[in-house]
Amino acid sequence: MVRAEDLVVETFFVGPLQMRCSVVCDTSTGDTVVIDAGDEPGRLIAWNDHGEGAGPNWSSAPGPVHAGERTVVALLNTHAHFDHSGHIPTVREHWGVEWWLHPDDTFLQTLAQQSAARWGLPPLPEPAVADHDLGHGETVHVGSLTFEVLHTPGHTLGGVCLLLRVDGAADHLFVGDTLFAGSVGRTDLPNTGGDFQLLANSIHTHLWPLDGDTVVHPGHGPLTTIGHERETNPFVGVGAGEHGTYGRGKYA
Ligand SMILES: [Zn+2]
Ligand SMILES: [Zn+2]
Repeated sequence: MVRAEDLVVETFFVGPLQMRCSVVCDTSTGDTVVIDAGDEPGRLIAWNDHGEGAGPNWSSAPGPVHAGERTVVALLNTHAHFDHSGHIPTVREHWGVEWWLHPDDTFLQTLAQQSAARWGLPPLPEPAVADHDLGHGETVHVGSLTFEVLHTPGHTLGGVCLLLRVDGAADHLFVGDTLFAGSVGRTDLPNTGGDFQLLANSIHTHLWPLDGDTVVHPGHGPLTTIGHERETNPFVGVGAGEHGTYGRGKYA
């Protein structure tokens, strides 16, 4: 388990959809894992390799972790929407590392190029095929970092949350578009398997039992905590009732 004093977590909001790419570094070894490296590969590479360029929008570190003091050891993804995974081929080739994805998002991943085109965005590289499967209940060991995998379908079929346990401070949970501060991921996107009841069930079953102070890193928007969302989230929090308010709201 990574010690609190060795852990650096950086957020890069990348691409036109301002998707959160999280860069997790164990400074005791330099081993670094990039979660959802979906866009702006040049910015991620410049900062990681050389400490140059725009850098992160937010970092838990008191100062920058300098180039040469860290090595990217793996790429993990919460799910395969194109904003989260479209530029994986670019960074995977650059860093020469392997990529993990839940197999239930394999089909979605093949649609990245046409999805980006539908949003009117620049062309993406040929979609990547994952090197490894993320499976529910598994612990993924990547360099000196370990992540526990929680399969939380509902936003997509293969959506997962990645739990990083921390010795001496709150744990971190990378949730992709499963849960947002005050909201939840869309369940109406095409070819995705979106289903609100499935999403709510995933969150109630796998996220609410976690420690309340667990820091939640959503795929878009601000950080939050498990405890805050459990108490106040209008769609899936304890006050939302058995079926939440979602079905009677925006997408009713
Ligand atoms: Zn998504
Ligand atoms: Zn997203």
